[in-house]
Amino acid sequence: MGTPRADFTLDDALDAEIARAADRVRGAEHVVALTGAGLSVESGIPPFRGPGGLWTKYGEPPMDGYQRFLRDPKRAWEERLEPSAPWAKALGETLAAAKPNAGHRALAELERRGACAAVITQNVDDLHRQAGTRNLLEIHGNHALLRCSQCHARFTNDELPVDPAALPPHCSACGGVVKDDTVHFGEPIPPDVLRGCFAAVEACDCMLVAGTSAMVYPAAEFPLEVLRRGGEIIEVNPEETELTSLSVQSLRGPGGAVLERLLHHVAAAEATA
Ligand SMILES: [Zn+2]
Repeated sequence: MGTPRADFTLDDALDAEIARAADRVRGAEHVVALTGAGLSVESGIPPFRGPGGLWTKYGEPPMDGYQRFLRDPKRAWEERLEPSAPWAKALGETLAAAKPNAGHRALAELERRGACAAVITQNVDDLHRQAGTRNLLEIHGNHALLRCSQCHARFTNDELPVDPAALPPHCSACGGVVKDDTVHFGEPIPPDVLRGCFAAVEACDCMLVAGTSAMVYPAAEFPLEVLRRGGEIIEVNPEETELTSLSVQSLRGPGGAVLERLLHHVAAAEATA
C-alpha cells in the first residue's frame, strides 16, 4: 500500500495557501479539528471501504455487531480475544503496528500552543492519543480501550486486566458489563463523547477538517453546525470532497505534510509577534 506522501511535493502556491490558513487559525477563538481515515492512511492504516480497503479485501464485519454483544457478551469477548474473521485479524495487526504521523503530531503541538481546543476523530486507531492530544473526542471509540456499558468508564488493559476464564469482564466502578470501547455497528455513539462533541462544535469558530469528507452521521453534522453559527471550515484533503464548496479554504495535500506546515507557519508567526 502506497502512502500519498511519496509522490507529493508541497509547492509555493500551496505553502502560501497554508500560511493564510495559519493566520485564520491564529485569529480564531476556538479551533476544533475533525479528522478521519485519510489522516491515518499515512500511518499505514488502510481505509475500511474503497480500493485497498480492509472490508473490500476481507468482506464486511457483521452489521449487527452490537446486538450480538448484547445477546452474548461472553461469546463476543471470546471472538475479540481469538478473532476468527480475517478482517478482524488483519485490522488488529495493522493497528498494533501503526505509529502517529506528522499530522497527528502537528495537531497535538497546536493544542499545546493553545491554537487547537479539541480534536474530534472518527478513527479508532489511538494515534491522536499516542501523539499527545489531550482534549480528544473519539466518536467511534478507541480500539485500545475498554468501556463500561453502564457508566461509560474507560479502562486500559492494564487498569482492567481481562481474565479469559471469567468473561465478560465487569466494571470496577459500577459492576456493569465491560465491552471494548470501539463503537460497533448498531451501537449508539457513547453519550459522553457526543456531548463533548456538541460542546466543542458550539464554541467552534474555525474547524479544520482533515482526512475526511465527513459524510457519516454524526460527524457530518459538525461542519454544518459550525457554518450555521457563522464559523469557517478549512479543509485538508488531497481530494475534492462534498465539503470543498463549503470551505473557506481547501488545502490540497496529505494531512501529514499540510498540518506539519500549518504548525510551522503558526509557530513562525508566534515567534515574530
Ligand atoms: Zn461502570
